[in-house]
Amino acid sequence: MRQKACCSLSGMICPDGTPGASPDQNDRVLRVDMTAGTLSFEPYPAAWRLLGGRALTARVLARECDPRCDPLGPDNVLVVAPGLLSGSAVPTSGRVSFGARSPLTGGIKEANAGGNVGQHLMRLGVRAIVVSGRPAEASRRFGLEIDGAGARLVPADDHAGRLNYALCEYLDARYPATASFAVVGPAGELGIKGASIACTDREGRRPTRHAARGGLGAVMGAKGLKFIAVDPGRLPARPPADPAAFAVIVKRFTQKKKAASRVYEHGTSAFVNVANLLDSLPTRNRRSGRADFAPQLDGSGIVASFAERGGEMQACMNGCVVQCTNKVHAPDGSHETSSLEFETLALLGANCGIETWDEVAQLDRLCDDVGVDTIEIGAAIGVYMDAGRMDYGDLSGMKQLLAEIARGSALGRTVGDGVVSVGKSTGHDRVPAVKGQAIAAWEPRTLNATGVTYATSAMGADHTAGLSLDPTVPREELAATSQMLQMINAANDSSGCCMFLGCSLDDLRELYGAFYDTAVSRQAIGDIAWQVLEDEWTFNRRAGFTAADDRLPEWMATEALGTSRAVFDVPDDVIQAVYERIDVGEALYSFTASG
Ligand code: SF4
Repeated sequence: MRQKACCSLSGMICPDGTPGASPDQNDRVLRVDMTAGTLSFEPYPAAWRLLGGRALTARVLARECDPRCDPLGPDNVLVVAPGLLSGSAVPTSGRVSFGARSPLTGGIKEANAGGNVGQHLMRLGVRAIVVSGRPAEASRRFGLEIDGAGARLVPADDHAGRLNYALCEYLDARYPATASFAVVGPAGELGIKGASIACTDREGRRPTRHAARGGLGAVMGAKGLKFIAVDPGRLPARPPADPAAFAVIVKRFTQKKKAASRVYEHGTSAFVNVANLLDSLPTRNRRSGRADFAPQLDGSGIVASFAERGGEMQACMNGCVVQCTNKVHAPDGSHETSSLEFETLALLGANCGIETWDEVAQLDRLCDDVGVDTIEIGAAIGVYMDAGRMDYGDLSGMKQLLAEIARGSALGRTVGDGVVSVGKSTGHDRVPAVKGQAIAAWEPRTLNATGVTYATSAMGADHTAGLSLDPTVPREELAATSQMLQMINAANDSSGCCMFLGCSLDDLRELYGAFYDTAVSRQAIGDIAWQVLEDEWTFNRRAGFTAADDRLPEWMATEALGTSRAVFDVPDDVIQAVYERIDVGEALYSFTASG
């Protein structure tokens, strides 16, 4: 890298917060070239006014990233894009998207996270950060600072190899209390394909909010970025075009969503028992969909522990009215982990024969510290165990594997690179993956519409791409159900609204219109959602994906699950129907991301 100690760009960020001003008049794109060590701001394109989050990562990558580039090379592009409503007064709307060509799938990938990074970027008028290139010296580490005075790269070589908790402790002490952070742990620096990008919690202190899937942490690490620090200081929320009208809509919306989202008041961890009843709790590398120890994993036990150990349900970002995040304490009352969710309890727990939430909490803490996706790693270790390389339920063995990942040993790389890597290394053929990525916990054999999403989403087998928990969807409605949910989730991922808020396309249409003082029709909001999918599918086709990649593992078509003898034997023509837009009428606009 040509720069010496530090490269800075100042004086470009000045959102005035004046009521009545256009909410986006100062919006910018921040470009960071890690090869040259240069930064530049450019005006945000007017044509992209209603694009944010995932819609924006897809659009930038479609234009600027070679779909066949080396995902860990200089030509990959890492895009950081807050949701469209992030930084506004809309509750639970501050999620931030990260996007790049995935080292795990080889396709396009977007993963989003809570915390305050998204809101802070939007308050500063930074609609996107586009990171290209790579330092000439691969051993160099940098931090990217963004605040009201501008943006700059600072040396971070001293933090090489540092675990996420220790790094965030340092950053919390070094930067103002108003700052938030996105960081990568050792796994990201080592180019491990299951590496995540961690955003700090609402207090800006702990690395517990992960953009986990697809190995985007490895992309950030390959660019030499150890952390991004965002400090908006005392800048106010983004001003809506018509504050009075917007306040009325937000008040009504908040009341409606507060009531509707009560199902998440104990977090997704409380869904373990539900999944168990549905034959949808992956157990021992998915040899069963039920575990007799499911009640010991269920999040109801975590909530019951609060009285004795401390801990609580809390918001992961400012302004969240759902507050689904559990803050989990160890028996001695110290903080163990936060956001111990259903997917983690299922994959690191039942799938690996770990029988209590207490034990999974310890593993979750380690995954957050090393900086890896709990879904990919839980599925990978499940295959490792199924291949006879480790006993199911071996907690200390699993901890050792996570230490190996942090060290970058040969075994650590094999496991950290995910479920397909472990299958290849062990010669085991029961590998639950689509497009190179581990299948999320919700079981496609039981939930066929979700299976169609796993097969067709450019995201790979990701439950947040379009999840249906209805096991009774008729075969002739599978494509329409999956497509509709993929569109609704794409729109939510673009808005910054958390899926647990449960926004419909009509909700988003109304909020966009009021905030930007622009009439947004049903046709327009539907087209935005569809275009996200089209941009992502086009990227993947250019990367070399074909219909042959839209398949679940063959054994899932024959190895029946549970009393219903469920299999995933959906024909290719049903799956491929997802790629043509299907008219589902009113449901497209009224159905919500949380079902
Ligand atoms: S609903 Fe849960 S995950 Fe979503 S923003 Fe709130 S606390 Fe975070």
